[in-house]
Amino acid sequence: LNERVPESGSRDELDLLAVTFNRMLDRISDLVKSMREMSDNIAHDLKSPLTRIRGFAELALIQETPEDIESYRTMAANTIEESDRLLDMINTMLVISRAEAGEAEFECVPVDLSAMIIDAWDLFVPLAEDKQITFTQQVDKALWIQGDAGMLQRAFANLIDNAIKYTPEKGSVHLTLQTWGKELVEIQIKDSGPGIDPQNREKIFERFFREESSRTTPGTGLGLSLAKTIIEQHAGSISVQPGEDGGSIFIVILPHRNFEII
Ligand code: ADP
Repeated sequence: LNERVPESGSRDELDLLAVTFNRMLDRISDLVKSMREMSDNIAHDLKSPLTRIRGFAELALIQETPEDIESYRTMAANTIEESDRLLDMINTMLVISRAEAGEAEFECVPVDLSAMIIDAWDLFVPLAEDKQITFTQQVDKALWIQGDAGMLQRAFANLIDNAIKYTPEKGSVHLTLQTWGKELVEIQIKDSGPGIDPQNREKIFERFFREESSRTTPGTGLGLSLAKTIIEQHAGSISVQPGEDGGSIFIVILPHRNFEII
């Protein structure tokens, strides 16, 4: 892939063919590079929980007092927790790659977006309270869209989870939902966290990308990529903007349809 066809610079047909051919080679070589990076990341991310699972099993084997049922229970619980993490990561990767290949199985039924977002929101109240984060939302009337409720909830849960995770104690997270005319709905999730480096505003939506400064916070780098896949499957868009006083504002725009529910 490092070979190149010589370009004469004469701009005749043969030279243009050589230029086009070399450009295609560059693209293929970039793709191979990013696939290699991705498989390195996958290997690395799958390795950590598997190593921990193996560690728990080893510990269980070398237990000196097998009658100590409590420590066995703890190890079994830890093993289940790590296995769940692993399964969740694998399922997430499958959803993303199936959606990218156009093979995703998304439902398309009426979903009350407002109620669904509030349900996702409620799940995070205890976490926000633990960090003494001011956690507010402004979502009022029922707003119906066509889509997959489970998938949409995962997308919004990832965004809310990140907002709380990256916001320091005593910070704030605020969610708003507003409609633009009869066709669009905009959801904003604003936090008082560290914000996103401007040069990474697109990259954070790529699989496994994590900002250098986030490496101390637990995560897989898959949440935003999954959220983007899900939102795009619903013909929507997702982006991030800097907040006025630092922090980030994640903006999701979705098409909606107001219809009567009998
Ligand atoms: P994870 O949080 O598991 O690392 P994500 O795909 O959800 O993975 O996010 C990718 C990266 O984007 C994070 O590692 C972090 O660097 C950055 N990021 C996401 N949300 C926020 C946020 N609300 N504030 C600051 N950085 C964020």
